[in-house]
Amino acid sequence: MARAMLITGGTRGIGASLSRLAVEQGYQLCLTYRSNKDEALRHVDQLRNSGAVVKLIQLDVRDKEAVEQAFKAAGDQFGQIDVLVNNAGIVAPSGRMDTFSASRIENIFATNVFGSIYCSQCAVKQMSSRYGGKGGVIVNVSSIASKLGSPGEYVDYAASKGAVDSLTIGLAKEVADENIRVNAVRPGIIYTDIHRDSGDINRPDKLSHAIPMKRPGQPEEVARSILWLASDDASYVTGAILDVSGGR
Ligand code: NAP
Repeated sequence: MARAMLITGGTRGIGASLSRLAVEQGYQLCLTYRSNKDEALRHVDQLRNSGAVVKLIQLDVRDKEAVEQAFKAAGDQFGQIDVLVNNAGIVAPSGRMDTFSASRIENIFATNVFGSIYCSQCAVKQMSSRYGGKGGVIVNVSSIASKLGSPGEYVDYAASKGAVDSLTIGLAKEVADENIRVNAVRPGIIYTDIHRDSGDINRPDKLSHAIPMKRPGQPEEVARSILWLASDDASYVTGAILDVSGGR
């Protein structure tokens, strides 16, 4: 039977690219979106027109109860989720950290950190041999910001991705003998709409000079790394954090 992959924020940016490539590899998909319903429906229609099995769920990953309901719905359709990609994430306008409001910081951590933890909790309960599951893979989408710190841009975002790195390392060890692998990718500057939320949609091209490879990345380049970590080719890889950042 085809493996089922749940991608949070799977209808735009890196998540949308990943879903297209995952379908080519024969995955059945459960995609979640938060607010861009029209774009989500368009994306899912395209995938279904190519013959893919896709379940679409509106989900705000900040809401633990809603996350639990989404995993139940996915489990009801697919038996269990085989691969979870914690991809949903946000930035906020660039600036100095001493100017950031509490609500901004809380929103970033609620989405990037708490959301990834809530989804991982549900995934472990479905996948773990401890609970009768057949195992699985979790891939977290961190950011190279966790290593660089993003001074003058969004130190809060960088810190949230540092937490995602720690989540990856700790959870990987916790469930390593329960047939679950947990890894992360750390994208560098990738062409997606997320940069509009930082205040400059042209940020990737403006920062090309600061990237050793002298170009931003394409979402597909991140997606292919995620697919490798999810695959059996990475069967002895867990707790790993893979930089996909053009050398940054
Ligand atoms: P994007 O194009 O802005 O897409 C973000 C996705 O996350 C959207 O599908 C959005 O849903 C979803 N989302 C946002 N808040 C959510 C919430 N509270 N609950 C559920 N879903 C939510 O961003 P992207 O560039 O593809 O980013 C994907 C991941 O890569 C993020 O974790 C980001 O931090 C990471 N990353 C990106 C870059 C880059 O340069 N692009 C670099 C490093 C790391 P809606 O469409 O419905 O709003």
